[in-house]
Amino acid sequence: MKVLVFGEVIDGEVQNITYELVACAKKLGEPVTLITSDADVSNIDGRVIKVNAGEISPWHYRIVEKVIEKEKPDVILFGNTSCGVDIASQLSANMPVATSAYEVESEDGSIKVKSLSYGGKVIVELKLETPAIVVLNSGSYDAEEGKGKASVEELEIEVEKDSEFIGYIKPAEEDVDISKAEIVVSVGRGIGDEANIEMAEELAELLGGVVAGSRPVIDQGWLPKTRQVGRSGKTVTGKLYLALGISGATEHVEGVKAKNVLAVNTDKTAPIFRISRYGVVADVNELLPVLIDKIKEIKEG
Ligand SMILES: Cc1cc2nc3c(=O)[nH]c(=O)nc-3n(C[C@H](O)[C@H](O)[C@H](O)COP(=O)(O)OP(=O)(O)OC[C@H]3O[C@@H](n4cnc5c(N)ncnc54)[C@H](O)[C@@H]3O)c2cc1C
Repeated sequence: MKVLVFGEVIDGEVQNITYELVACAKKLGEPVTLITSDADVSNIDGRVIKVNAGEISPWHYRIVEKVIEKEKPDVILFGNTSCGVDIASQLSANMPVATSAYEVESEDGSIKVKSLSYGGKVIVELKLETPAIVVLNSGSYDAEEGKGKASVEELEIEVEKDSEFIGYIKPAEEDVDISKAEIVVSVGRGIGDEANIEMAEELAELLGGVVAGSRPVIDQGWLPKTRQVGRSGKTVTGKLYLALGISGATEHVEGVKAKNVLAVNTDKTAPIFRISRYGVVADVNELLPVLIDKIKEIKEG
């Protein structure tokens, strides 16, 4: 099965989702990764097609359309990112598409996809005839498995210019990318007051992590928008996610793909405990100072 991966590059850097898509493609068959911006792609495993389409936006669906015509893949994989969803939807007029997928398998020439629906409340199993498009959630496959040695081909494509890439709008210089952090200390409405975020920041620093938050915390301006976890924020995929005073609404947990979730909540029935490896029923503002002191004590030996 030939699988075309739409590789994402931002500011010259191959994004983690690209390696995750390649890892998924390798399980289905032969991956071919399409790269539409300039970047060092040498560690993407397998065949890589580096396209030069002139001044047109690197995220133009017509670039992908032309490569599909040339390569005739059975499956086209996109990441569930704004750019991936954007292109996949434009191509879907001619092909079946599965969105919010987290597992893809081949079966007798077709593909079987497991997808999240209704904000993650329902799991849908779909069988698609090929060629088909799958939009994969980040955190579904191990990025490391998509890394290896690339065999790079250059391809010139002519696409009618109807849009132009102007530039990136970057987050504030001093801010961090929570989607790349291994340890995320995340605060929800249960933290009660902006002043209490200081404790979360101290804990994050001690653990070598970063602070993030649920939407109400961001909406109140207690943390910048770049720190929001969830459907309208970012997806975290690191080793540890500490959910402090977060209820676990589906729109929030959609963005929580960390390997281990540890939740602290006063309500033992809070939905966040359903996705947690460890749960503590406690007042976060009472627990945090104790936890901080304990970690300091251990660190000081
Ligand atoms: C289209 C759409 C997109 C959305 N996108 C996002 C998104 O990207 N990210 C996101 O987070 N939300 C998003 N939401 C909002 C989401 O539905 C929830 O409203 C939000 O996640 C709730 O945030 P919370 O858990 O911090 O607050 P709450 O739901 O109010 O939960 C607070 C929790 O804190 C606990 N608590 C209270 N006091 C304490 C204490 N002292 N110690 C410990 N625990 C305590 C409570 O028991 C409760 O469980 C979206 C909603 C919509 C409709």
